[in-house]
Amino acid sequence: MSFTAGNKIIIITAPSGAGKTSITQYLLKLYPQLAFSVSAATRKARGSEVHGKDYYFLTAADFKQRIQANAFIEWEMVYEGKYYGTLKSELQRIWQNNQVPMLDIDVKGAIHVQQQFPGAAMSLFIQPPSVEELKRRLESRGTETAESLQDRVNKAAYEISFKHHFDYVIVNDDLAKACAVAAQLIDKFLEL
Ligand code: 5GP
Repeated sequence: MSFTAGNKIIIITAPSGAGKTSITQYLLKLYPQLAFSVSAATRKARGSEVHGKDYYFLTAADFKQRIQANAFIEWEMVYEGKYYGTLKSELQRIWQNNQVPMLDIDVKGAIHVQQQFPGAAMSLFIQPPSVEELKRRLESRGTETAESLQDRVNKAAYEISFKHHFDYVIVNDDLAKACAVAAQLIDKFLEL
């Protein structure tokens, strides 16, 4: 069957540290039909992150101006004082390329996108095996201060309570297995 992007959307959501980024990267390599939806964000770029590839890094003033201009599909203050959002122009860019946008966004944002695109979006919730394991993963990633780590752990426990809002829940206790399950679901969704 030949592939048409239609106006489909794939949403991957999870608490921070659940392995969502690894699964997203795996899927983007596997499927040329998919394109990473680059979010706008007001946090600072980490290490090797590149503007326009990892995020559109905006000032808070610029971000707020775009909220006023109704430029976002959804936006959230994901962490204290830090805004993240999906730009309408980003989804248009990807659809025009005949690709399906893959959104790596937080749980509340994912629920908002689903509500706006009923029937067009497939949502995957990646669940960490436990909150303790998630804490261990975040510590070993080494990108967090003690305070921001605790912030992310608290938020994770809260976010897991929303997992039933999503089309599929994938428990990531084994990354290779979780990637394989996600790929099967995408095959079906893209009708490949
Ligand atoms: P990080 O700062 O670790 O890159 O991302 C923090 C969280 O923000 C992650 O859960 C990520 O999925 C989420 N996020 C990234 N982009 C967006 C977005 O456009 N909208 C929403 N709601 N969350 C986002």
